[in-house]
Amino acid sequence: MAPDVIIVGAGPAGIFATLELLDRGVGKVLILEKGFPLEKRRCFLRETGRCRQCEPCNLLSGWGGAGAFSDGKLTLSPYVGGFLGDLVGRERLESLIKEVDRRFMEFGAPSKVYGQPGDAMEALARKSVQAGLRLVPVPVRPMGTHRCSQVLDALFRHLTGRVEVIFNREVEAIRLVNGYKEVVTSSGEAYRAPFLLLAPGREGNRWLRDQLEPLGVGFETNPVDVGVRVEVPAEVMEEVTSVAYEAKLLFNAPTFDDEVRTFCMCPHGEVVMEYRSGLYTVNGHSHGKESTTYTNFALLVRTAFTEPFDSPVAYGEYLARLANLLVGTVIVQRLGDLRMGRRSTPERIKRGLIEPTLAEAVPGDLSFALPYRYLVDILEMLEAMDRVMPGVNSRHTLLYGIEVKFYSLRPQMSESLETPVPGLFVAGDGAGVSRGLIQAAASGVLAARAVLERLKTSTL
Ligand SMILES: Cc1cc2nc3c(=O)[nH]c(=O)nc-3n(C[C@H](O)[C@H](O)[C@H](O)COP(=O)(O)OP(=O)(O)OC[C@H]3O[C@@H](n4cnc5c(N)ncnc54)[C@H](O)[C@@H]3O)c2cc1C
Repeated sequence: MAPDVIIVGAGPAGIFATLELLDRGVGKVLILEKGFPLEKRRCFLRETGRCRQCEPCNLLSGWGGAGAFSDGKLTLSPYVGGFLGDLVGRERLESLIKEVDRRFMEFGAPSKVYGQPGDAMEALARKSVQAGLRLVPVPVRPMGTHRCSQVLDALFRHLTGRVEVIFNREVEAIRLVNGYKEVVTSSGEAYRAPFLLLAPGREGNRWLRDQLEPLGVGFETNPVDVGVRVEVPAEVMEEVTSVAYEAKLLFNAPTFDDEVRTFCMCPHGEVVMEYRSGLYTVNGHSHGKESTTYTNFALLVRTAFTEPFDSPVAYGEYLARLANLLVGTVIVQRLGDLRMGRRSTPERIKRGLIEPTLAEAVPGDLSFALPYRYLVDILEMLEAMDRVMPGVNSRHTLLYGIEVKFYSLRPQMSESLETPVPGLFVAGDGAGVSRGLIQAAASGVLAARAVLERLKTSTL
């Protein structure tokens, strides 16, 4: 039987859209996912440190999407993790976040939330201001990698048999046929439905553009975030991470007047490599079960380029490629070596206090890869942070580079995430509306509700 709705992508956006549709009585949903079911997703980079460049990438693709092996930090604030608030307003987003969070809990997310308002947060905020930093309060519900997989598995079991999920099916093309949306897979099958929701994640953003532009949908250019991942002994950050788990700190760097921010703090975690479009970049994880004695976080500088330059993604990729060119993978450098203008060597790293958790990173010199502006911004931020967390600016601190966060180009859409093509919806990171699990899931719910409204009057 032909489906009412086809969903491309089984990340949080696609999964939560499906849940919403089923809850409200739409039974004919087809999910097409180019990756594999959770139990078949095997990432060699995570397991052995050697990326086998699988196609599709098992770290990013398959049931649960890019977040399946993450430490599953649910950030419960409308100010971080996406831009849905720009479309629907902060209050509506807050209520959506609450709903989605409740659902994550129904499927097994733990009850503890860090970073709630209270004396400890206020004291931290005061100390931050005195150091020239702004602490953005962000309640975080960390699931941990293990629990995150369990939650995704529970969601899969809940949906199995109620919707059709076809794995290992990459959607290549989209066509409009008499009001229907037809998708054609790489193996040549075609499926049609009156409603189509595209939720292909960040790495699917280019594909999304290739599909939507010929249909007359315009796109907005977004900024790019460039920086490094910082690794310190966990004790250095304990005062902050025990209260806020993930402290969002903002800093106005004096020399270039740029905003630098902390991102994705991973207490007792490890630094990991990411492989995307032929490039190695860095990221971080906190494991719920196996913890390390280190904490890592990213320091990022956002750049919104102005005319005539309009290729922020190409720029970010170029910088990452430069770091890869120097050492074949990602660079690790001691802060002390960077300040002294010399490369880190394996011997120098060994003499340091921190044993890199990303063993595959090669000691080198970040100043050959990162533009002066970003280096200065980052060094200034570390100095300020040291006043709140003494030890962050130590010469032993490790910097891994480079970390790049691309913002997906955002297609034209309404506040219910419908593109100018009637019945064609977009959601999640790939559509540039989210940058985290919660807002990705919330965007799926939002799109599903709009589809439900439209189904009531559809004549197809
Ligand atoms: C290492 C890592 C750690 C992270 N940690 C956190 C965290 O702690 N907290 C947090 O909030 N966020 C985290 N994130 C971000 C979070 O995972 C994403 O924001 C979220 O997964 C986006 O959801 P999505 O549904 O939009 O896209 P995705 O999760 O990327 O899912 C998109 C899916 O679509 C599929 N797809 C793409 N194109 C096609 C196609 N043409 N045909 C068929 N299928 C297709 C992909 O295979 C993929 O499975 C992390 C991300 C990474 C990579």
